[in-house]
Amino acid sequence: MPVPGADTRGIAIFGGTFDPVHFGHLRSAIEIQEALDVSRVMFIPSYSPPHRDAPACLPIHRLEMLRLATRDVPCFEVDDREILREGKSFTIDTLRSLRTELGELAPLSMIVGFDAFRLLDQWREWRALMDYAHLVVLERPGWDESGLPTELANLLNERFVDDPLCLHSEANGRLCRLKLTQMDISASMVRKIFREGRSADYIVPKEVISYVYGHGLYGVA
Ligand code: ATP
Repeated sequence: MPVPGADTRGIAIFGGTFDPVHFGHLRSAIEIQEALDVSRVMFIPSYSPPHRDAPACLPIHRLEMLRLATRDVPCFEVDDREILREGKSFTIDTLRSLRTELGELAPLSMIVGFDAFRLLDQWREWRALMDYAHLVVLERPGWDESGLPTELANLLNERFVDDPLCLHSEANGRLCRLKLTQMDISASMVRKIFREGRSADYIVPKEVISYVYGHGLYGVA
């Protein structure tokens, strides 16, 4: 049973396909933990992302690579609920199940890139998301609010807090912006590197490279 108030610094959740996980994700997660001062950063790989192409490799491999990449960082956790749930991975379902586990009081922050935020109004039950979590929007160079749908622009204004540490004082419902070190790495780039037989050193953790070769993923020979 969740103990009310036990997790007062809260949890940040970092969703994605992680196909595969790379240092862009991992460095971001460290900076998110520091900026929000949360007790845990939870990586939640999706089974089947609703708004993009199917991942290139099986959920079990993406999950295992995440586990290998994060095992030495005590505040990192990998959560398999979307993979066990199967079907389309809707964030609202994940937030509801996390909220049930954590109790009403624990601050829960959902991390989204600005590109994803722009399309938030296409997510299932998007207006309900902040009934369960705070929203932390990652800034990209050239942050541009023009063209945002009105409801999203209103959300930015009405829910906004300047200081990420303010997220400790409520369980959900606030929005803050976070600027992280930009690493020009994407999983698509990593998959291409593997496919072309080039080195993924210093882009992806060693354990992940060994796993990819051990299981013949992404077309490696
Ligand atoms: P793909 O190239 O397949 O789209 P990706 O690495 O961009 O993959 P995901 O694995 O789905 O995307 O990313 C999960 C989360 O990590 C998303 O919120 C995304 O914005 C973020 N992210 C991806 N790459 C970086 C990066 N280089 N730096 C910081 N955050 C990143």
